Amino acid sequence: MLTDFISYLIFGNHCKYCGELIKFGEALCNECKTDLPRITGEKCKYCGAGKDRCTCKNAKMKYDGISAPFYYEKTIEKSIRKYKFADKQYIAKVLAEDTAEAVKNDFKDINFDFIDFIPFSKNQDKKRKYNPAGEIAKEMSKILGIPVKNVLTKPFETETQHISSAFYRQGNVAGAYDVSENADLHGKTVLLVDDIKTTGSTLNECVRVLKIAGAEKVYCAVVALTAKEKSKKDKEKP
Ligand SMILES: [Zn+2]
Ligand SMILES: [Zn+2]
Repeated sequence: MLTDFISYLIFGNHCKYCGELIKFGEALCNECKTDLPRITGEKCKYCGAGKDRCTCKNAKMKYDGISAPFYYEKTIEKSIRKYKFADKQYIAKVLAEDTAEAVKNDFKDINFDFIDFIPFSKNQDKKRKYNPAGEIAKEMSKILGIPVKNVLTKPFETETQHISSAFYRQGNVAGAYDVSENADLHGKTVLLVDDIKTTGSTLNECVRVLKIAGAEKVYCAVVALTAKEKSKKDKEKP
């Protein structure tokens, strides 16, 4: 405790999600305490959103299931942006804890052979200090006791995803991913990790590639996913 207090005097105490300075002995700032956009209630097995916010109309995806603890908004959006673009690598730990917890709840009866994550291309690797999905996968591996094997590769560059439309994205990622030559995927059950799911086209493409290479089942886990607020029209439908 004394060393904690000394460290507090020197470095201050920071909220584990957003890094804001907070009082000694607290773990979260007030905003993160009250504003964490957790996905609650029954979840849609196709898009991972809560049934109260699902608008996917049961659109079939290539994965066998998806799990996420948060919506990509409010404090979690801020937190992930800091983690990805401001080199706050330590945030991986708390994001991985929540994501691992969601996996434990949503995929209770599934025995995973290994965890894989969405890879960077060589160019991305050179530009960035770390792969956000990779760091979260490593932390999740420690918590869940499942090894990480990065068999997915990205031999081709794609344009930055957040600026392209959903339609364009599907074409944009098609053929961008592959698996390493010596990967043994036959009959394996894989947990595929990424930080954010928006349209799901990247996950879908990676699952497709893993399954072509022999994977039996692929489940996805992401820290956060986007879900539009339901329009009035959506709400009226059963
Ligand atoms: Zn905070
Ligand atoms: Zn849905």
